[in-house]
Amino acid sequence: MDNNNKTILVTGSTGLVGSAIKYVVENGDSYTNEKWIFVSSKDADLCDKSQAKELFEKYQPTHVIHLAAVVGGLFHNLGYSTDIFRKNVVINDNVLGCCHTFDVKKVVSCLSTCVFPDTIKYPFDETMIHNGPPHDSNFGYAYAKRMIDVLNKAFHQTYGHLFTAVISTNAFGPNDNFSVKDGHVLPGLIHKTYMAKCQNTDLIIYGTGKPLRQFIYSRDLATLIIWALREYKEMEPIILSAGEEDETSIMEAARVIIKHMQFHGKVNYDTSRSDGQFRKTASNAKLRRYLPNFKFTPFDEAIRETCDWFVKNYENARK
Ligand code: NAP
Ligand code: GDP
Repeated sequence: MDNNNKTILVTGSTGLVGSAIKYVVENGDSYTNEKWIFVSSKDADLCDKSQAKELFEKYQPTHVIHLAAVVGGLFHNLGYSTDIFRKNVVINDNVLGCCHTFDVKKVVSCLSTCVFPDTIKYPFDETMIHNGPPHDSNFGYAYAKRMIDVLNKAFHQTYGHLFTAVISTNAFGPNDNFSVKDGHVLPGLIHKTYMAKCQNTDLIIYGTGKPLRQFIYSRDLATLIIWALREYKEMEPIILSAGEEDETSIMEAARVIIKHMQFHGKVNYDTSRSDGQFRKTASNAKLRRYLPNFKFTPFDEAIRETCDWFVKNYENARK
C-alpha cells in the first residue's frame, strides 16, 4: 500500500457508478490515508470552467475519479447526439484541465465499450479504440469519450501526467437511471416490468431481443475502478469486463428480470424500435493478467439485488 495521504475527488458521484464507489468505500474498502470527496452537479456544474476551478481550489485533490458525464441508453443517444457530444467534451476538458493546473497525481476517467469501431474483429481490445468510426447510434457519446483517451495521451506526452481511463461495458445496479425513455436497457426493462405487473398490462421489449451485451454490476465496476486508482500504473486504458463467455442477449436478460419481478403477463417485442449495435464483445485479457482471480457477481444475483433495490426505492428512484 502507498502510505502517502490521498485526497480523492469523485465527480459524478450521485450517478450509478459514483454511488456504487461510495457504497464500496463506505462498506469497508477504504484505507486510513485516503480522504474521499464525493461531488455532483450540485457542487459544481462542470460544463462551467470557473465552477470546475472553484471545486478544485476548494478540495485540492491529489487523485481524481472522473465519472461526471451526460449518459443515456440507446434511445437517448439517438435523440441527443449534439448535446451529448458538446457537454461531454466540455466537462472532460474542464476536469482534465483542472487536474493539470492543480497538479493532480493520478486521474481515472471512465470510457465505455461504445467507443470502439462498429466494424471490428471481435473480441476487441484496448489497442483498437481509434481504428474506425463508432456505431452510428451513439457516435456523439463515443467520439466525446474517445477524446478523453486523446487528452490522456497528450497530457502524458507533454507533461508526463498519469491520467488514465477504464473502459466499462454496459453497467447496471442500484441508483441507476430507470427512465424508460433515456436509460439503458436493464433499468428500462426493470421499470417496464414493474409497471406491467402493477397495471396488469403486457411487457414491451424494444427491438428483436437478439443483440448481445456484456453487462457489469455497478458494485463490481466500483471495486475495479478503486483498484485501478490504487494499483494500475499505465496511461493506456484498460477494459473492465466479464469474459466473452458471459455475453447475454437482451432476450435472456429480460427473462432474468421477469423471473425476479415475478411477472406472469404477456411479453411482446416492438421490432419497429432500433436494435442498436448488434454486439460490442470486449476482451478482458488485460484485466485478467492483472487480476486473474477477480470474481464478478453472477448476473442472476446482481439483477435480483437491482430489482429489489428498485421496488424498495420506487418513490425516489431516478425514472
Ligand atoms: P449517471 O448515473 O447518469 O450519473 C451521471 C453523473 O454525472 C451524476 O452524478 C451527475 O450529477 C453528473 N453530472 C452530469 N452532468 C454534470 C455536470 N454538468 N456537472 C457536474 N456533474 C454532472 O452516469 P453513470 O452511469 O454513473 O456513468 C458514470 C460514468 O461511467 C460516465 O462517465 C459514463 O460515461 C461511464 N460509463 C457508464 C456506463 C453505464 O452503462 N452506465 C458504461 C460505461 C461507462 P447530478 O446527479 O447532480 O446530475
Ligand atoms: P447500448 O448498450 O449502448 O446499445 O444501450 P442500451 O443499454 O440502451 O441497450 C440497447 C439495446 O437494448 C438495444 O438492442 C435495444 O433495442 C434493447 N432494448 C430493449 N428494450 C429496451 C428498453 O426498454 N430500453 C432500452 N434502452 N433498450 C432496450
